[in-house]
Amino acid sequence: MDSLILADSHCHLEGLDLTFYEGSLTRAVAVARENQVRYLLNVATRLDAFPGLISLLSQDEFIYGAIGVHPSEVVDQEPSVDDLTRLFDHPRMVAVGETGLDYHYQFVNHETQRERFRRHIQAARLVKKPLIIHTREASQDVLRILKEEKAEEVGGVLHCFTENWAVAEAALAMGFYLSFSGILTFKNAEAIRAVAKQAPFDRLLIETDSPYLAPVPQRGKSNEPAYLKYIAACLAEIRGVTLAEIAKQTTKNFQRLFLLKTSRTEAHC
Ligand SMILES: [Zn+2]
Ligand SMILES: [Zn+2]
Repeated sequence: MDSLILADSHCHLEGLDLTFYEGSLTRAVAVARENQVRYLLNVATRLDAFPGLISLLSQDEFIYGAIGVHPSEVVDQEPSVDDLTRLFDHPRMVAVGETGLDYHYQFVNHETQRERFRRHIQAARLVKKPLIIHTREASQDVLRILKEEKAEEVGGVLHCFTENWAVAEAALAMGFYLSFSGILTFKNAEAIRAVAKQAPFDRLLIETDSPYLAPVPQRGKSNEPAYLKYIAACLAEIRGVTLAEIAKQTTKNFQRLFLLKTSRTEAHC
């Protein structure tokens, strides 16, 4: 287990009240590292979280950042494309999002969500960063808008994947990756496990989405990046490969999606 390198493609560390993580981010990050997590992508869901995100990035080199206004976030002012593009100067700011559509909730009017989503895609194309997509009960509109806004140009990931194979196929065809969370370990997630089994190995990512969705055997607790190993082990079982192979491949996929694009962008500057 010691030689494994795991990449948590989606977690929420800062910007939360610290009833999560036992009140200490420093502890959570240290324990993640002890549990083989060597890449940790922290996803901010509001633009006012930006200063906190940058200070988190300065704490540790293995933390990477993404920012966007989550479809369910109620904000005073909708972010413009310009507001968004300004946030990606830091070399470890690697993705735009999470963005997308959430029709399960009505916190934000659906038309407003769609307009917000389009602006995030436009910003991602301008800064040449991949997108982190959140979709809930909205997959057809998500796929349509990704296509209309030419998201293919930058690619990205459908995070916390809970859709069917048809949605997976459409996303894969646009060059997107699929990221699986602790839901994969839940008893009633047979359909999601079937997609995880079928998807191309070089398009799979894993994530904790912590502090939410703790995997079995920690289900019901507050989640942590340190629990990524349970998700990796579950995926290994589903695919019939070793944990080492899952770690190697998902980390490689993480690097290809988020880090190569970063260095390529830098090289152009
Ligand atoms: Zn999400
Ligand atoms: Zn999230």
